[in-house]
Amino acid sequence: MSELHTFSVAQLAAGLKNKDFSSTELTQHFLNRIAKHDKATNSFITVTPEQALAQAAAADKLLAEGKGADLTGVPLAHKDIFCTQGVLTTCGSKMLENFVAPYNATIVENCQNSGLVMLGKTSMDEFAMGSDNESSYFGAVHNPWDISRVPGGSSGGSAAAVAAGFAPFATGSDTGGSIRQPASFCGLTGIKPTYGRVSRYGMVAYASSFDQAGSFGKTAEDCAYLLNVLSGHDSKDSTSANKDVPDFVASLSAKRQANASHDKPLQGLRIGIPTEYFADGLNSEVKASVEAALKQYQALGASLVDVNLTKPEITLATYYLLAPAEASSNLSRYDGVRYGYRCESPKNLEDLYTRSRSEGFGAEVQRRILMGTYALSAGYFDAYYVKAQKVRRLISQDFAKAFESCDVIATPTAPTTAYKIGASLSPAEIYMGDVYTIGVNLAGLPSLSHPVGFDGDNLPVGLQLIAKAWDEETLLQTADAYQQVTDFHQQPSPIAKA
Ligand code: GLN
Repeated sequence: MSELHTFSVAQLAAGLKNKDFSSTELTQHFLNRIAKHDKATNSFITVTPEQALAQAAAADKLLAEGKGADLTGVPLAHKDIFCTQGVLTTCGSKMLENFVAPYNATIVENCQNSGLVMLGKTSMDEFAMGSDNESSYFGAVHNPWDISRVPGGSSGGSAAAVAAGFAPFATGSDTGGSIRQPASFCGLTGIKPTYGRVSRYGMVAYASSFDQAGSFGKTAEDCAYLLNVLSGHDSKDSTSANKDVPDFVASLSAKRQANASHDKPLQGLRIGIPTEYFADGLNSEVKASVEAALKQYQALGASLVDVNLTKPEITLATYYLLAPAEASSNLSRYDGVRYGYRCESPKNLEDLYTRSRSEGFGAEVQRRILMGTYALSAGYFDAYYVKAQKVRRLISQDFAKAFESCDVIATPTAPTTAYKIGASLSPAEIYMGDVYTIGVNLAGLPSLSHPVGFDGDNLPVGLQLIAKAWDEETLLQTADAYQQVTDFHQQPSPIAKA
């Protein structure tokens, strides 16, 4: 039983159905691990043992009656950006340090209805703005592969929790890479679905036309299990798509079965390689691992074709104009009046607004609000905001053109592996780390990162796959085919081994 945290989601679900262990035992196993080892990683902001054990007991009852659904009794962790009724939702900020939502986010509700057990809420960069989890008001999160390093961000807590063996899988959100980049830094698989696939209702807004929830797991299959639960139309989110959702797990197993006696399961798959994404600034060890993975894809039958995408620097500039512009509007609701942090003894209304926001928001959030407000201001709106919107359209068109000659696109997920906590990078240097992931969000496409190797410091390297809108299945199937013949995703971090 001491190895339960190394099991796949499928093994956990089967073990529960088989009564090899109960949900209460399983939940307790993860809670014990969190209590013992989370001091080293700081991946949770809130752990909810009582609620988790109550949910586990309810799951055990259903399982005993033979009424369990696919995932009944399996634990998970939620990023602290998703509203949870009766449990703190801080979004990593002093602004929401004491905020308890009066309702559940739709995805939290979906997870509960599927019988999943919530272990707690994981740390994140403040308001999901960041790439290293160092801007969390609750302190930096430490990477389970090397606790002197960052786990990536902004969903760094969820990534660290799964990589440390504190939860079998976890939710995250991805506005510009916040699932894929931490998945890459922590040796996990992470998927950001197509914009509109998953409801945003009850997910604290950063940049609404980019934000999308998704899943972290050890494998593509683990991610598929969670994606099945998260996906689907929600009348409470006007941008959620009214579209049929495939059964991602069933389609993975169907594909596996069809290829059972085939040593080239990816035969016919055309993988686009954008040369712009393999140029200057890419760490040589990351490049070598990604290139080795591409060779493995070829050995599995895929063919590689050159494609062109918008230059990553242009994509980066467009994102860092539009996302802060949306953030400046979304975050105007934190005014010290309705909810959230309020300053002490305000002199007048203006003082209340100014000090509540200056004291409640951290430096990076304030920087983004300032950049965004500037880009939206009367004198600069056309020169910056409108222009960036036009470039956003061109970026989408470049993706569409690339997909005329390929089925998926492969790139490195990030230019480097996990860097040191306190490396004192400038904001611009940190933004550069998002250079490969943000184009996907500008175009609303689905994308996945999976582990493809380690650098000389034994830090994980990730490869990013991008597909056409609504084609998460190809991403999951491609990564799954790779994971059937490699074992990078099976390597435990030092904390998972403890
Ligand atoms: N690192 C990017 C940013 O800071 C993306 C964050 C995210 O996806 N939430 O904006």
